[in-house]
Amino acid sequence: MSIRQLPEILINQIAAGEVVERPASVVKELVENALDAGATRVDIDLEEGGVRLIRIRDDGGGIAPEELALAVSRHATSKIASLDDLEAVATLGFRGEALPSIASVSRFTLASRRPGDEHGSALQIEGGKLGQVTPRAHAPGTTVEVRELFYNVPARRKFLRAERTELGHIEEWLRSLALARPDVELRVSHNGKPSRRYKPGDLYSDARLGETLGEDFAAQALRVDHSGAGLRLHGWIAQPHYSRASTDQQYLYVNGRSVRDRSVAHAVKMAYADVLFHGRQPAYVLFLELDPTRVDVNVHPAKHEVRFRDARLIHDFVYRTLKEALAETRAGMTATAGSADAQAVPAGEAGQRLAGSGYALAGGGGMPASWRPQQSPLGLQVADAPAAYAALYAAPAAAGMSAGLPPMPSQNGLPATAADSGVPPLGYAVAQLHGIYILAENAEGLIVVDMHAAHERIGYERLKTAHDGMGLHAQPLLVPITLAVGERDADTAEREADTLTALGFEITRSGPGSLHVRSIPALLANAEPEGLLRDVLTDLREHGQSRRIASARDELLSTMACHGAVRANRRLTVPEMNALLRDMETTERSGQCNHGRPTWARFSLAEIDRWFLRGR
Ligand code: ADP
Ligand code: MG
Repeated sequence: MSIRQLPEILINQIAAGEVVERPASVVKELVENALDAGATRVDIDLEEGGVRLIRIRDDGGGIAPEELALAVSRHATSKIASLDDLEAVATLGFRGEALPSIASVSRFTLASRRPGDEHGSALQIEGGKLGQVTPRAHAPGTTVEVRELFYNVPARRKFLRAERTELGHIEEWLRSLALARPDVELRVSHNGKPSRRYKPGDLYSDARLGETLGEDFAAQALRVDHSGAGLRLHGWIAQPHYSRASTDQQYLYVNGRSVRDRSVAHAVKMAYADVLFHGRQPAYVLFLELDPTRVDVNVHPAKHEVRFRDARLIHDFVYRTLKEALAETRAGMTATAGSADAQAVPAGEAGQRLAGSGYALAGGGGMPASWRPQQSPLGLQVADAPAAYAALYAAPAAAGMSAGLPPMPSQNGLPATAADSGVPPLGYAVAQLHGIYILAENAEGLIVVDMHAAHERIGYERLKTAHDGMGLHAQPLLVPITLAVGERDADTAEREADTLTALGFEITRSGPGSLHVRSIPALLANAEPEGLLRDVLTDLREHGQSRRIASARDELLSTMACHGAVRANRRLTVPEMNALLRDMETTERSGQCNHGRPTWARFSLAEIDRWFLRGR
């Protein structure tokens, strides 16, 4: 075949292959156009999962009648005019491809009216053929109607799924949009029936978080907001006990654009590494904001991905911010602001409810500096705790665990009432249940603590603190080894020599694809160095840092802590139990055991009342 220029319609259909995968991608492109036009309300009417009809109507700035035809022609955009504009682009669109692509694979109508115009106008396109611009009654704003998607591309139509599935994709995308733009009202109807409505509001003070991700998420999410190095990361992260089997609740926005980014996802996962149950995924809604010139948004036709100029810095920033936020998740924390409290939970879930509702990091709060020791509401004396606790720890404790006893309160015998803020968050122990659980009474109701899980975390955190001070020592190998790692890994090892030294590896390059290893991290002397080093090199290449050594170390310390922790069926005295509760309140990450299981649960008096149908 000789070379020839493709016809316009075919060019657009080929472009549509990149941008328009399914009805959800059409909805995405059209709603983004509405938002770029300054809409405050967007109506989305769908039929048959969007395959039969997608109609998007907005109250934005509209399009001039003489520009309607231009809007649907290829590479026509009002959003950028030069390469400089592209580098700092603040709109969601900029490629000028969506409308012509969608119009080439559907029966398409564009109708619009600018606020100052006397009436609206409309333009129809079918099979890529432009009709005439005709007058049309229309409120200020724009309506785009897409009928019979892929009617002229049977190969594509075959890939469409059941109505329910396509609708699901649209709803999922709208959810992610609703989180990013809580200021915009979104109304959705399907097959003529209203199916969803997001009222305009604010993500931090209104109901949008619960409406989109569910009240369960909203009730326990931690708010984060941290700025530095020209970056800002804010949003919500789930407490570790609220984990997911899949990555379905991971929302990341870069300058307001919903994107997938492996490096940021990895940073989040690393931040959760120490508190998440094995195989579980964290849930989050995170907004990363930075100067637009530091991120390239033009790397994906549907703009699902971006490229950062300083990816390492961002990885580090995200990791540190979230790790710090998660370290604050101590047992006994209660909601301080904004989010739902225990009362908002349906009665049926009361018994299932886990601890820790909506502690807001950004809203301050946290632990009072010291507790006033006193009689418990039931009149149990908090006495002799230091001695009893020391004995507890002196049991078959792991190395280092008996060090650093907590400062114990002195006794002044203040009477406590339920309203007295002097009652510690986890309250005072009243009993031990089956040698496994501690029951305690606090100002709001009942606290149940898994004593082994809690003790294990406390020991683990102590061991880590003790080891952090010592650094990672290098242990020379009796017989240095030569590893064939391939050229790429050898390059990485050479480039990252300083990082590797800090981790305890002493390595020199001994050939194009081989390394000479003279020392390895002392704590892991028994580990198999080859696999470890390979993993570390892969991490360094892909993410600019590696936590393998630290997590291998943590694993070891965690095992030690587990063996040192109180076993089930060990009878504790009331002072011992109280001492454990006080320790939980001041230990980082004490809401989860070392394996990510919760260490405590709370039942408010109101919840318990509901069990007995009291007060109705
Ligand atoms: P892009 O969004 O990349 O500019 P599109 O093909 O999606 O390309 O849209 C082309 C142009 O049509 C936009 O640049 C904008 O000027 C105009 N346009 C599209 N949709 C709307 C709308 N809902 N309201 C106002 N103008 C719109
Ligand atoms: Mg667009």
